[in-house]
Amino acid sequence: MPTYDFIVVGSGIAGLSYTVKVAQYFQDKQIPIKIALITKTVAEETNTKYAQGGIAAVWDNQDSFEKHMQDTLVAGDFESDPKVVELVVKEAPERLKELISYGTDFDRKSDGSFDLVKEGGHSDKRILHYKDSTGNEIERALLEKVKSFDSVDFFTHYFAVDLITQHHLGDKVTKDTPHKKCFGVYVLNKKTKKVETFIGKTTLLATGGIGQVYQSTTNPTIATGDGIAMAYRAKGFVKGMQFIQFHPTALYQPGKKPNFLISEAVRGHGGILKNLDGSTFMEKYDERLSLAPRDIVARAIDSEMKKNGTDHVYLDTRHIPKEEIMAHFPMIYQYCLDQLGIDMSQEMIPVVPCQHYLCGGIIVNEYSQTNIEHLYAAGECSHTGLHGANRLASNSLLEAIVYAHRAFEKSIGEFGTQTIPAGIPHWNDEGTRNPEEMVLVTEMTRELESIMSNYVGIVRTDRRLKRAYDRLELIYLEHEELYKQSKITVPLCELRNMINVAYLIIKHARAQRENKGLHYNLDLLNA
Ligand code: FAD
Repeated sequence: MPTYDFIVVGSGIAGLSYTVKVAQYFQDKQIPIKIALITKTVAEETNTKYAQGGIAAVWDNQDSFEKHMQDTLVAGDFESDPKVVELVVKEAPERLKELISYGTDFDRKSDGSFDLVKEGGHSDKRILHYKDSTGNEIERALLEKVKSFDSVDFFTHYFAVDLITQHHLGDKVTKDTPHKKCFGVYVLNKKTKKVETFIGKTTLLATGGIGQVYQSTTNPTIATGDGIAMAYRAKGFVKGMQFIQFHPTALYQPGKKPNFLISEAVRGHGGILKNLDGSTFMEKYDERLSLAPRDIVARAIDSEMKKNGTDHVYLDTRHIPKEEIMAHFPMIYQYCLDQLGIDMSQEMIPVVPCQHYLCGGIIVNEYSQTNIEHLYAAGECSHTGLHGANRLASNSLLEAIVYAHRAFEKSIGEFGTQTIPAGIPHWNDEGTRNPEEMVLVTEMTRELESIMSNYVGIVRTDRRLKRAYDRLELIYLEHEELYKQSKITVPLCELRNMINVAYLIIKHARAQRENKGLHYNLDLLNA
């Protein structure tokens, strides 16, 4: 069994920036180490790659930490942890400088200063961006950097299945067991179809979001909540799953998944939301109009669509000079033209809200430590307390680099202190057989997505949540039976994880008895 000093699951911004830091630190100290970087498809297929708008940080004198902190707290409906908000906002410029030192390019003005833009919920221009494909640029730079280290073994097309804990040594592990420990990960090698045992002294989960549990999402197919489900099954603590961000403006393309995002920055540059008859409507909902925080805009669109019996609204960018559109949104411009024949400088863009971001996740402390020893989590799969009940635009890439750094600081301190017990067993699939009926998995996945979209979406009710819970239970029981009989496959495991995640979302949503941020339950309106 290979033993690694560090195992990193996920090659998005969180996993890569942690890996770079750990590898660089030990290289500088000339201490030989081994890092396993595991990712389930190709290296760059991540939510990070698709981030368009940018990354928030206080960068010029006009702006201030206080303003960024206040904007974050307001967007989070004052459910964020103020200490966490302060540490993230204050560490932001330092972490951004590091990203730049790794080779990430951000757009600059002719005088060489950064071309900062303003997005919904921000009181100042503080978003650094690279055209409208910031995430792709960050991912490119980090991947290049990671590949320069000999200490990193990069496992692409390897699917992490379960964390290894004392449970696998025969001990009973409950959520109350003190000193639960993580000893690595069981990982499915997608080529050989065999499960391999990766022993790890320190493990970081950086597995990203959960968008695939919904019918429509901006998240790519990798976003099935695997890390959260793995941690939950290992008795890790999870919080805030009811706070699902629905982006107000995904491109309306019925039947297409993932949905293409029309970045918030388009509204930041003056894009105006309109009904199909061309009338504006945001003035009825919020004085900040189209630049109100995402939850307000998404609910406003949902309400207008329901009232008017339509399945989308428009984003009007016709008044923005074409040169400005081409300079800031070349990818969006081209995509609308190629996919729908829409020239956004001449025609309105059809948009619809869809799942975009998860504010909750695996609970971590200010050093990214979970309640399981030697297990860290960072990025979208974690719950740090930054976002509260709603995430401020462009704060998630930021949170990922700040907490990857904090995980790095803590875990290098732990280096050399961990012991791996003898007797960790290999994966046992005795008595299982190759699944014969993939149609069951496909259909169960469809049902799950439909339940989540219809009953656990932007607007919820107690009855819808109960119905979702009851329906999900049936899927869970059917899946458990199939899982126990079958040799594991990626779709089977992803469905298992999505069932766990959907269960947590519904459970947390039912327990939330006050409308806050992204959680909006009609039965709580007068509570
Ligand atoms: P990801 O980048 O999603 O990486 C997850 C990694 O984990 C992937 O490599 C995946 O393959 C791997 N993985 C998952 N499960 C397994 C498994 N079982 N085994 C092995 N590997 C696994 N945020 C901003 O701050 N600003 C923006 O402008 C912005 N725009 C966005 C636009 C879009 C369209 C989307 C989808 C998101 C956007 N976000 C934005 C959110 C932000 O991109 C994500 O929150 C962030 O990139 C998450 O980074 P991460 O490292 O946590 O996860």
